[in-house]
Amino acid sequence: MAQMESLTTTKTYMGKLTHGADLIEELTEFCLVHNIRCARIEVIGAVQQARLGFYDQTTKVYEFFDIPNPLEITHCIGNVSLKDGTPIVHAHVTLAGHDGKAYGGHLAKGTTIFACECIIQVFDGPDFVRGYDEITGLPLWDMDATR
Ligand code: ZN
Repeated sequence: MAQMESLTTTKTYMGKLTHGADLIEELTEFCLVHNIRCARIEVIGAVQQARLGFYDQTTKVYEFFDIPNPLEITHCIGNVSLKDGTPIVHAHVTLAGHDGKAYGGHLAKGTTIFACECIIQVFDGPDFVRGYDEITGLPLWDMDATR
């Protein structure tokens, strides 16, 4: 059965991100500076280039690929939780090129902001802590440690 916790929204930030900055680093830095430990993130806009990941479920290794040209962010959704005591952002993104065809994947360092509008919804509730998951090989939320 799904393991879920009840959270309460305490604050919502909305604004624009820095032209030329790295998208995942910009989001992570904002969370660190504002001590955001649990949140939902949404971004739309455009990037100058992108680096995305695909998790190979057989080898249990991330494969990364680069798209070295401008793209629209048609959707970017993510969350903030704790790993090794530090807030980390986990986000997935769908990006479209000039022909409207889309790429998608796990947002990686190497994705450069052209212009982005961002909303961060901060939650109050138990800490969500990432730990190694034996079945998937991923650093998933350890719901037994979430209190
Ligand atoms: Zn991911």
